[in-house]
Amino acid sequence: MAMQMKNDAQVKFEKLAALDKKHFLHPSTSIKQHMENGPGFIFTEGEGIYLKDVRGRKLIDSLSSLWNVNIGHGRSELGQAAAEQISKLAFSSTFAGNSHEPVIELAKKVAEWAPGDLNTTFFTSGGSESNDTAFKTVRHYWKVKGQPNKTKIISRSLSYHGVAMGATSATGIEPFREFTTSLAQGFLYVDSTIESLKALIEKEGAENIAAFISEPIQGSGGVNPPSEGYFKEVRQICDENEILFIADEVICGFGRTGEKFGMDLFGVVPDIICMAKGISSGYAPIGGMVISDKIKNELMENYEGNFWHGYTYSGHPMCCAVALKNLEIIEKENMVENVRSMGEELQKGLKYLEETHAFMGNRRGVGLLGAIEFFKNEETKERYTEPVSAKVVAKALDRGLLGRSIVYGGQDTLAFAPPFCITKEEVETMISIIDDSIVEVKKEL
Ligand code: PMP
Repeated sequence: MAMQMKNDAQVKFEKLAALDKKHFLHPSTSIKQHMENGPGFIFTEGEGIYLKDVRGRKLIDSLSSLWNVNIGHGRSELGQAAAEQISKLAFSSTFAGNSHEPVIELAKKVAEWAPGDLNTTFFTSGGSESNDTAFKTVRHYWKVKGQPNKTKIISRSLSYHGVAMGATSATGIEPFREFTTSLAQGFLYVDSTIESLKALIEKEGAENIAAFISEPIQGSGGVNPPSEGYFKEVRQICDENEILFIADEVICGFGRTGEKFGMDLFGVVPDIICMAKGISSGYAPIGGMVISDKIKNELMENYEGNFWHGYTYSGHPMCCAVALKNLEIIEKENMVENVRSMGEELQKGLKYLEETHAFMGNRRGVGLLGAIEFFKNEETKERYTEPVSAKVVAKALDRGLLGRSIVYGGQDTLAFAPPFCITKEEVETMISIIDDSIVEVKKEL
């Protein structure tokens, strides 16, 4: 009987895999490799930090899928919130000043979470749209203020801001930019030193620069925290040069670092926060841009025309209802506190790996965001020709852990961002699976 069930599951997997290969174009996937290998997993269920696939395999979701399933999988309350909202009001437009209850409630809730005078939110369907919205908004702002030449946007190397045209153009991870032959105009890139930022502003002229954008801790670029005091100085430079400061909080926002927003770690209040992922823990596609009262007042007092920007799904009622329920759960269950305490366990685990395996180093992270790298020689920064992190991730899969290797910019990084609901025992299991996988890979090097 058990054998029969296994066979049925395998048959189902193969049938779905064939259809997947035939009809589904996967994001961030090699089409050629996918045609050769097909899907690795076809997921059917989730519970807490675990995902289950159609063949019954259970995997630890060590990156909260795409750094987004923050409250963990399987919270049926969010399904109920979605069903109730759809039954009552599935959709109504927020264009031309119309509104509905969930979007009003969510905008109020975001203002409670956001720092300083960031009180007004424009909603989108995700992070890329939020960043594109911010780029258009800052340019509009400077035009309204009588400085239409202030259009350029500065972003940092190894930053990830998404794949819409503006967001791709701001992204500092080169393969994403090279995918398309012509990017949006007016994007400038800078490395992560203050000297380079000052030199770039000097070269381009502050009168031509609209905004600086950065993640508080870079995610997809390898979990890279800034150097000590970096953002405080950036804030000051932006103020001195009349450059708006956009924080891309798509990964860090809503508790990932153990603070409400990642910039809270550095005591810096940006002019604009872009958000997505954690606002709904991935249960519904929603993001947004929160602006300061200063920006809103300027746009209100000195401009009478429309805010000519809006997605059909800006403030989708179901997505807003789901996001509200998600934030309610994070608040009621003190999940940000758990991020802090489990974050310490995660960092302890990474320290253990670093001390146990001589070829590991450059450990970093805060809260439930962590990373560690592999070096052939840490002092000279020499790497293995083939990334060790990718091999470890492959071995970890066999042991029941879905991991993430990051190799952009010549690094060889293992990244972690498990759900906020993770327990001490689960952190230990995660680290022990990685530990065993490393031991196995070491033998093959
Ligand atoms: N900004 C950051 C910091 C991100 O991590 C991501 C997604 N990984 C995005 C923007 C883009 O968000 P989305 O994929 O929802 O468009």
